[in-house]
Amino acid sequence: MQHNPTDQTLVLIKPDALKNSLTGYVLSLLSEFHTGLRFAGVKVVHVNRMLAEEHYAEHRGKVFYASLIDYIEGRLHYTDDAWKRRVIALMYQGPDAIKKIRDIAGPTNPLNARDKRPGCIRSLGTLAPIKDEAGNTLGERMDNLIHASANEADAEREIKLWFRPNDIPPAMQPFATTESDEHYYYRESKLFTSHEPGSACILAPGDIAWKTDFEALQLICKGKQAACTVEAVVAKYLINEKWEEE
Ligand code: AMP
Repeated sequence: MQHNPTDQTLVLIKPDALKNSLTGYVLSLLSEFHTGLRFAGVKVVHVNRMLAEEHYAEHRGKVFYASLIDYIEGRLHYTDDAWKRRVIALMYQGPDAIKKIRDIAGPTNPLNARDKRPGCIRSLGTLAPIKDEAGNTLGERMDNLIHASANEADAEREIKLWFRPNDIPPAMQPFATTESDEHYYYRESKLFTSHEPGSACILAPGDIAWKTDFEALQLICKGKQAACTVEAVVAKYLINEKWEEE
């Protein structure tokens, strides 16, 4: 059974929430009792650079981008203990999932959140100055504790970026899947269908992938333009893998 794509959303409990031990509080506010939503996927993720950059691709080039990437990777809240750098990724499902979660999250900017929606999750967030190497202030980063998909298209892109189909119970998988009939390997922004030294295996025959990912891999292998970058497909297969390109 497949669910209506309007009915799911991605939530990330970000490193500032983990550092401040707010995970349980956030999960309580988002519980089925409060929202009527069910969680369909849960994952503890050590966020690597590829995943961070794909998740925040729309902010590339903005003044806060570099700081935002460091933030979601956990580098700013766990400066020494790299092993503590984590995000909790959740997929919630049910009627009006996107709106219900965003209402409880509140406005993006924690100052607006405190002003407009006291008591919402992000009202507990902070603003942090962003400085250049000379110490000049360039702007502010919003440490706002959770990410919540903004709309249907973002929810689909983000759920497919953070979860493989098999991370979600079959009856709750919201998007079409397909079975791989080939091996796919990745190294340095390139795909291979046979093993190359230093490459990571992304899919093997029989593995289940999102249909759109599989179609993108096939196009990229033929040197054609795909609907997304190779990294958008590959990143989820490298989640929590020891393999990482520097
Ligand atoms: P959004 O894509 O709107 O969910 O924003 C993603 C994250 O980027 C937010 O949660 C903030 O941490 C950060 N962000 C968005 N807009 C700004 C901004 N104008 N200044 C600083 N940080 C921002």
